[in-house]
Amino acid sequence: MSAPAQSTLSVPSVPHWVGGKTVTGPLIRTGDVYNPSTGAVSARVPYASAEELDACVATAKAAFADWAATPALRRARVLFRFRQLLEAATDEIAAVISSEHGKTLADARGEIVRGLEVVEFACGIPDLLKGEHNENVGTGVDAYSLRQPLGVVAGITPFNFPAMVPMWMFPVALACGNTFILKPSERDPSTAILLAKLLHEAGLPAGVFNVLHGDRTSVDGLLQHPDVAAVSFVGSTPVARHVYLEGTQRGKRVQALGGAKNHAVIMPDADIDDTVEALLGAAYGSAGERCMAISIAVAVGDACADQLIEKLLPKVKALRVGVPTDSATEMGPLITGEHRAKVCDYIESGVGEGAKLLADGRPGFAGKAGGFFLGGSLFDGVTPEMRIYREEIFGPVLGITRVPDLESAIKLINAHPFANGTAIFTRSGSAARAFTSAIEVGMVGVNVPLPVPMAFHSFGGWRNSLFGDHHIYGREGVRFYTRLKAVTQRWPKDVKSSAEFSMPTMK
Ligand code: NAD
Repeated sequence: MSAPAQSTLSVPSVPHWVGGKTVTGPLIRTGDVYNPSTGAVSARVPYASAEELDACVATAKAAFADWAATPALRRARVLFRFRQLLEAATDEIAAVISSEHGKTLADARGEIVRGLEVVEFACGIPDLLKGEHNENVGTGVDAYSLRQPLGVVAGITPFNFPAMVPMWMFPVALACGNTFILKPSERDPSTAILLAKLLHEAGLPAGVFNVLHGDRTSVDGLLQHPDVAAVSFVGSTPVARHVYLEGTQRGKRVQALGGAKNHAVIMPDADIDDTVEALLGAAYGSAGERCMAISIAVAVGDACADQLIEKLLPKVKALRVGVPTDSATEMGPLITGEHRAKVCDYIESGVGEGAKLLADGRPGFAGKAGGFFLGGSLFDGVTPEMRIYREEIFGPVLGITRVPDLESAIKLINAHPFANGTAIFTRSGSAARAFTSAIEVGMVGVNVPLPVPMAFHSFGGWRNSLFGDHHIYGREGVRFYTRLKAVTQRWPKDVKSSAEFSMPTMK
């Protein structure tokens, strides 16, 4: 955060999107957006002032009544059109994601598809909003329930999925009849504006979807605003906890998804070649900047660990690190130089704490083309006391932890403060069944390294990986973005009433 530096005055600034159009503020506080492949500043992002935030909330509030009263079928039709436009614009959006985030184009396209699936789910909203009905709960009395939207809801999102994570939220929120304010990550803010333009083109009325840029000040502003009814947050655990506590104490509904440290258990009977390929993608894809990335491989038995290392290590050393637009690249740069330095610090700390660094991603990639590149690192002998075991690194670093049996693996995972995703690799149905039943983690894969639930299920972790009662998207999303109303009715023409002074019971 700073007043614009001389060197960045020439770069374009990313606008807000409020009331169906772009809005460029006075640029009093701004942040730098980098091209991680070159290290150069590619844009400036404005941080909304308190007045801009108030105006944005007022716009979303003013749009709420009409949008909530729009039949769900018509709201769904806007999303159908958005879905078509989104599919057609996939390459354009992927290029923007890749240029600001650094992930490969194929990976960027993949996140758009995962977001698009939530749009498709939300297109079924007329069915999803159906309530329950009982005829004649008492003589001439009927009871039914319905779900109604909350009002203005805010979505606060992280840098690592600038298209998919917002689309975990707004398609369902809008379909339910809410109006929405997206506060995207200030590190890759441009994708949000492209999505806003497509929603507008799809026929979404002005003010129903808004994008407000900013840093922690804007987040706190949204949390404190009395006209924001609910907040969906995805990001790191300390911020998720802060958002949950601040939001709920002001009476808002909050779902706050936090960080992760995902373990994969490798059983001695696993198909080792398949497992190695799965681990490579899950640990090093998107340079490890995924909340579902596998960062700890728990090998059951020394023989299993040794076999795993023998096959995995040469492949980690051969990972193709490069610019994300090159189709041969497997791993692009990290998001910022600061984040790269933090990941390197973790590698140093692992060495200092006695883990065995089998592959070191630091040399050879530092400063490549001026970008924030880092190769893949692999540790053996990672133990639960080490920082590289306890904390989320969020980079291309995989640790191997050795345990004697499945029971020890389950105990280890259940004791970790993070509990987002986990996986087991095995050929044994009974081991897989024991694992899926006893493991205390929100999302579980069996021979599936990244068990990200489909749009018609719901996504969420346990313990420090999620604060709140609802997972995100799917039916959980519909529940989160609506409140339940129960109606009991009778028509006096059919039934004569007389005053009742005791608790009413049905006759
Ligand atoms: P982050 O917590 O730094 O930022 C997330 C959002 O919070 C951004 O919009 C940012 O502007 C805002 N923010 C940052 N600091 C804040 C503060 N002190 N007060 C209020 N708001 C603040 O996260 P990030 O670095 O952008 O993303 C990476 C993190 O997100 C990782 O921890 C990753 O595991 C997590 N993540 C979790 C999931 C999940 O589903 N559980 C998904 C994606 C990413």
